[in-house]
Amino acid sequence: MIEVKQLTKEFRIAGDKNLTVLKDINLVIEQGDIFGIIGMSGAGKSTFIRCLNLLERPTGGSILIDGVDITMKKGRDLLALRKSIGMIFQNFNLLMQKNVSRNIAFGLEITKVADFVIPGIDKEDYKELGFFQKRKLKKKEIQRRVDELLRLVDLEDKKYEYPSKLSGGQRQRVAIARALATSPSILLCDEATSALDSRTTDSILKLLKKINEETGVTIVMITHEMNVVQKICNKVAVLDKSEIVASGYTEDVFGDTSSEIVAQLLGGGE
Ligand code: ADP
Ligand code: MG
Repeated sequence: MIEVKQLTKEFRIAGDKNLTVLKDINLVIEQGDIFGIIGMSGAGKSTFIRCLNLLERPTGGSILIDGVDITMKKGRDLLALRKSIGMIFQNFNLLMQKNVSRNIAFGLEITKVADFVIPGIDKEDYKELGFFQKRKLKKKEIQRRVDELLRLVDLEDKKYEYPSKLSGGQRQRVAIARALATSPSILLCDEATSALDSRTTDSILKLLKKINEETGVTIVMITHEMNVVQKICNKVAVLDKSEIVASGYTEDVFGDTSSEIVAQLLGGGE
């Protein structure tokens, strides 16, 4: 369902120099996969995952979702794309001035493309976007959906709490509910458990697995932590210095003792 072909990303840096961050990336992620992308810090993982929802525009190659190349999408089509792809982050990126309920309702209340900013992402990233009016959901419909999501992430008793009063694990649960509000078919997770202790990590991974099984949502998980991949990813790609150096079923990739980078990652990563 996600097919990445010869994807490249270069950043223009000081002067006229280009920094190649992704080089000829080829990957197929199938519907229902929990697909891990693992690599050291600076390997290009975040840049890759940000290309999947066009927070970064690739400089070459294509990304097909259900057979359609998304890389040129704009305006109304880009909004639809963003609603079909949820995203969560290491630092949760909740709206601190809004309570849990309003955080979760965020994506359901949007009427302008320009407002559909994933919290924590620089608004500048959206400046090329146009304006698009859509039918607003009724307040009641939004509340029904929020309650459903609160049940899913097991936070019904925190509905009117503010993020500052929540633990890290609870904040990530709110972020997951918010990301799922528009019923996306893909959930992108950028180091979603890296700020959490190991017990909380386990409970978040369990939740993601449950959501994957119950809703069939495809999950793409960026991480530098081997154990995260081993716990829930059925497939994995290893990203090393801008390139995919191994990919396949998790047990095959990590079972390959001849791979130097896999040995390094097994040895504790960073
Ligand atoms: P990872 O998530 O694997 O740690 P990133 O994708 O964040 O790696 O970064 C990969 C490389 O791209 C790093 O060298 C980083 O400095 C560079 N990079 C990321 N974003 C930008 C940007 N907007 N401009 C220039 N360089 C960037
Ligand atoms: Mg990163």
